[in-house]
Amino acid sequence: MYGSIARITTSFIDVPGSIAVAVYFAGCSIRCPDCQNKQLWDRAQGLAMSTDTVVACIQEHPLAEAVVFLGGEPTDQLDFLHSICCTIGSKKKVLYTGREFEWLPTTLTDQLDMIVCGPYRQELHVNKWPASSNQRVLLKDQGSWITQVT
Ligand code: SF4
Repeated sequence: MYGSIARITTSFIDVPGSIAVAVYFAGCSIRCPDCQNKQLWDRAQGLAMSTDTVVACIQEHPLAEAVVFLGGEPTDQLDFLHSICCTIGSKKKVLYTGREFEWLPTTLTDQLDMIVCGPYRQELHVNKWPASSNQRVLLKDQGSWITQVT
C-alpha cells in the first residue's frame, strides 16, 4: 500500500519521556483556521511511499521507543496508517489527530497506545502540552482508554 508522507524524523518532544520517530503525513482535509502547519495541507506535496518503505525508515531508529504519527492529518489516509501500525511491531504507537477520539475506528485504536485528539484552536491556546485546552490525551491502560489529565 502507498500513501503520501511529508517527512520522517526523530522527535524528542511529541511523546513525553520518549525518543520517537515522527512520521509526518502529507495532506489535511480538516483545515483548522489556526493551523500552524498549513504547509502540510496539500497531500500532493508529499512523497509517495509504500508501507514497507515507511517501516524501513522507522527501523533505522533502533533507539526510538515510540513512533508518532502526525501531520497533516494521518487519519485522512486511514488504510495506509493502519497498514503501518500493523507492520511496525512492538514500538509504542502514538497518533496526533485533529479528529475526535469517537470518530476513530476501533480497527485503528486497537493498534495504538496513545492518542492526542481534537483540532488546534487559537482562542483556547495554553502554554503547555497539548497546545489548546479542547485537545484530549488518551492513554491505553490494560486494554481500556483513559483520559490523561494534563
Ligand atoms: S487537523 Fe492539524 S494539520 Fe489539520 S488543519 Fe487542524 S491543526 Fe492543521
